Amino acid sequence: MLRLLLLVVFLSITVAANGPVYVVLWFDTEDYIEPASDDAALRLATDLRKLGVKATFKVVGEKARVLEKRGRQDVIEALRWHEIGYHTNFHSVPPTPAVYLKTMDYLTGADEFIRREMAGFNDVSRIFGVTPSCYGQPGSSWAPQTNRALRQLGVPMYLDEGSHVGVENHQPFWYGGLFYVFDMGPYVMRAALDKDDLDASQREFDSTAAKLSSQGGGVISIYYHPCEFATTEFWDGVNFSRGANPDASEWRRPKRRTPEDSERCYGVLNSYVKHALSNPAVRFVTGRQLMSKYQSQIPGAVNRQAIADHMAARQTFLVLNNTSLSAADMLLVLLGQEPRFVEGPVSEGKTTYKAGTIDRRRFEQAKSDTVSYIKTHTRLPATVWIGSETLSLEDFAATLAADRSSGDVSVRKGNPELRRHVTMEPQKTFGWVIHPEGFQAPELLDMARLQAWTLKPAVLK
Ligand SMILES: [Zn+2]
Repeated sequence: MLRLLLLVVFLSITVAANGPVYVVLWFDTEDYIEPASDDAALRLATDLRKLGVKATFKVVGEKARVLEKRGRQDVIEALRWHEIGYHTNFHSVPPTPAVYLKTMDYLTGADEFIRREMAGFNDVSRIFGVTPSCYGQPGSSWAPQTNRALRQLGVPMYLDEGSHVGVENHQPFWYGGLFYVFDMGPYVMRAALDKDDLDASQREFDSTAAKLSSQGGGVISIYYHPCEFATTEFWDGVNFSRGANPDASEWRRPKRRTPEDSERCYGVLNSYVKHALSNPAVRFVTGRQLMSKYQSQIPGAVNRQAIADHMAARQTFLVLNNTSLSAADMLLVLLGQEPRFVEGPVSEGKTTYKAGTIDRRRFEQAKSDTVSYIKTHTRLPATVWIGSETLSLEDFAATLAADRSSGDVSVRKGNPELRRHVTMEPQKTFGWVIHPEGFQAPELLDMARLQAWTLKPAVLK
């Protein structure tokens, strides 16, 4: 009897804990110099369709135009069966996004990104007949201003890899109003094309999938570039290294793989995908399909007291009863506002207010002024005014969260732990052979830390 009972308990735990493993397979489709890369994109799209697997092809604007010019309607049609994302207009022609956005503030940078990228975005939309579902930066050329620009372009998802911003569990998160698949750590997987270790890669996939499934489910991110199957060197590395900007007439074609070698590479990916498909927990999804598996970023009903306790101690996200809340979400709750997305502050605020308490009337004024600011700008302020003195946003948030009485308000010092989710490493994070030698962008990381008010883990439905 005990044995039976234990078996029942064990089975119910297994059933409750084992969740789906979503695999998002994406291809940065970018080489507009070597025509053999067009054939590689066609072949990959066709092979995967035969397996019933939909991938996400993030296409460069110039690549889409080149496919049109070369009359490759076959490639366009094949890719369209999958999902189309956007991967900048020219990818590696300088200045790349992080290089020019490093010199700009949040709002100007977002406008500038749209000015530079609108034509490419429209071309990909027109040529493929769909609005791209997602965006990812070229190389490591990430910048926080792109979040605002992408929201304006109607792109809801950031699909790429990098270490600029992320959450501890290396799973999807919300940041800047976008659904991010990024900084996936051990959940970025692939079978190497040029190492003879397919068996080891498949075993690693199985153990990672089992781990995710036992935790209730999660995401594995797999990416390739069609050009990797056609050439042995990257099309942009041979032309645009270290910020080089040769005229199009001087562009050199990358070294080709032999047809037999390309065939071997298709075989590696085909085997790897087939192996993943044989795992009953695995579901291949496109970017858009993956997003639909997650709760919306607008939180539902919440426990105000738990939020106040959390925000009084630290300003960073909180996952409470399966509801994920950013510091910005929680500040809105504390201010009695309807849940919605608002941006983080665009500058660093300072506290100049010296006294230890604020009288009730002035604090209530400060609160209603903050509500008005947020409504007007759809953004958090950098500082909150107490007469002609200021509280930094984190000091205001901590003070507001700890305020329980009806008399004078004790000023509390903030503890903006949210900043820890943005890397402090300004050079390695932006390391890319296309960036100028020694390029670093601490300014972008400072700006990213301000926007971390919007950061929170995404939660599966
Ligand atoms: Zn790329």
